[in-house]
Amino acid sequence: MARLFGDVPGVQNGDLFPSRAAASQAGVHRPTMAGISGGQAEGADSIVVSGGYEDDRDFGDEIIYTGHGGNDPASGRQVADQRLEAGNLALAVSADRGLPVRVLRGAGGDPQYSPPSGFRYDGLFYVDRYWSDVGKSGYRIWRYRLARSPRQNDVTNPPPGRSGQQRYATTQRLVRNTAVTQWVKELHEYRCQVCGRRLETPSGAYAEGAHLRPVGRPHNGPDSPENVLCLCPNDHVRLDRGVIGVDSAQRVIELGTGRPLGKLRTMPRHQVADAHAAYHRALFL
Ligand SMILES: [Zn+2]
Repeated sequence: MARLFGDVPGVQNGDLFPSRAAASQAGVHRPTMAGISGGQAEGADSIVVSGGYEDDRDFGDEIIYTGHGGNDPASGRQVADQRLEAGNLALAVSADRGLPVRVLRGAGGDPQYSPPSGFRYDGLFYVDRYWSDVGKSGYRIWRYRLARSPRQNDVTNPPPGRSGQQRYATTQRLVRNTAVTQWVKELHEYRCQVCGRRLETPSGAYAEGAHLRPVGRPHNGPDSPENVLCLCPNDHVRLDRGVIGVDSAQRVIELGTGRPLGKLRTMPRHQVADAHAAYHRALFL
């Protein structure tokens, strides 16, 4: 059966299921054991949040989710490193493609947001960021920030040539604009600090303000000029996905190899704090 992205027809937000088997039967989360349903070519269509991983954090409309693998199911503790493969890679693909992820919460999760018993379908979330980290038990884990869909009803459009069986709902990458990012962009006259390009559109120049240390949970980076770069959309995605970073000598580097790619374009009035650049680099070790 084709993987279905988005809401399952006939299932409403808040619907309760007595067991994983019942939720699987309803098509909300097909696997009966795995926490992530997905393929690394297609993306992840659903996850279960039920307290099985010690590094998970639930804030209701926002979830910091731990990838799978290296976990002792009896204790919930990590006993080995995780890798960006299988379901973990599927969630990363969902982030890149803006695919909706169904969230099923189980009674074992954070008591404030979890059902008292069984499992509850809690609607659609989007993966807006992923990174690696060292978890509580000292092993490398992959972490994902999921945020609830801002829309009540996601528009689902089957791609041309496909039946309605396989549904998609996509969202654009959220680009935060604040007084600080605006100031940085204007100072650089919308020229990318990495590649030097200035993107012209019919309505003027376009650039994005990129935070090195991400704002929002759990990173809580500051929205201040020393944490913001003026970037073109391509280099913004490269930075957010850990393809490039900034080293302590203010050079742009390829994060995987450490190879310098060139000097970061800075200005006397706009310098980047190395602490924030180092924080960003550590997200993709
Ligand atoms: Zn650029």
